[in-house]
Amino acid sequence: MSTGPARWIMHLDMDAFYAAVEQRDNPALRGLPVVVGAQPGGRGVVATCSYEARRFGIHSAMPIQEAHRRCPDAVYLRPRMAHYLEVARQIRAVMATCTPVVEPISIDEAFLDVSGLAHLIGPPATIGAQIKAAIRDAVGLTASVGIGPNRLVAKIASDFGKPDGLVVVPPEQVLDFLGGQPVGVLRGVGSRTLPILQRLGLRTVADLRRLSLTQLQAQVGPRIAASLYQQARGIASDRVGERAARRSLSKETTFGVDVADSGVLRDTLRGLAAEVATAARQEGIAGRTVTLKIRFCGFETHTRQRRLPRHSDDARTLFATAWSLYEAGKPVRLIGLGIADLGAPEPVQPDLFDGAAERPADNDRERRLTVAVDRIHARFGVGALVSAADPMDRARGLDETPECPQSHIRVS
Ligand SMILES: [Mg+2]
Repeated sequence: MSTGPARWIMHLDMDAFYAAVEQRDNPALRGLPVVVGAQPGGRGVVATCSYEARRFGIHSAMPIQEAHRRCPDAVYLRPRMAHYLEVARQIRAVMATCTPVVEPISIDEAFLDVSGLAHLIGPPATIGAQIKAAIRDAVGLTASVGIGPNRLVAKIASDFGKPDGLVVVPPEQVLDFLGGQPVGVLRGVGSRTLPILQRLGLRTVADLRRLSLTQLQAQVGPRIAASLYQQARGIASDRVGERAARRSLSKETTFGVDVADSGVLRDTLRGLAAEVATAARQEGIAGRTVTLKIRFCGFETHTRQRRLPRHSDDARTLFATAWSLYEAGKPVRLIGLGIADLGAPEPVQPDLFDGAAERPADNDRERRLTVAVDRIHARFGVGALVSAADPMDRARGLDETPECPQSHIRVS
């Protein structure tokens, strides 16, 4: 897409981050299946798990009870977010010594523009090896690195090499590299689009390239067709670190198994509200409209909105508002919470949502935790948990892939 000199975009993603930190800190956990997230017997989901746990089919966003059924002997740990944020801050500091053009995508993932480093360090593989080694020296953890001419190729390359990967895809190899990948690596190919492509016998990206844009449009609609057509040909953005003006901010979780238990949904939504609120506070923004998004098992998706009396960045307010929009019904595949109609934060009225919000006893503890996490965020830097501005640039839409769901922050 760019007409200037060739660009080298790096995607760096820590391997099984939370679980890897726990295994690093406690050698007794190394080699064991480690699941970080909710406690078994309780509600909630897996946040991250070690590669040993993945062999049991456990993955992020899986209900914890399902994980426990698959591997009762795994070590189940509660997340230590403040600690992970501190480790992430150290990693961010290492990346900053490499290039100023760093765009954090999540706590353990970032895009870097390393185009200008060739004359300083050497070819992309050397740059990648050097930053991996620097991270290992600084925090004792492995990262997977993908480097290519744009964000799409870099992201797919880093996933491809996991764990501890280093994959460089030069421009002249992009078509071959992508061609051999399953179509599921492309953004927007999820549980809705994948079956359509499979029915057409389109297994790989090379298969997908055999279809004309018109043929593709007839199958998946104009919007997804245009995106897939370009992605299949390696066409994607190579811009890093540029953010468009934000109009909304949301976070969603796709469950590996459809969830009917309203307790799980409530706890998941509470977590999403906390993450949206944290991201909003980092940006100094607040939302006047709260959106609840629910997708049922048949891909039928509903969004409901409620307008607040004033702008809010308060997790409890966002949660209480979104939860008030929920109506129990069919099993849920995906749940999301977003804020829109953004503006400056306004002071919270403590009893505004008292009817639905948490009890004061919880409030105090939660508020202290919020303040503590925010303080870390302040040191950690803006953007710690916030993704790219351009949704097309975001890491592939894993959220729609039932085999490998994960949660992410969406910004549009
Ligand atoms: Mg990671």
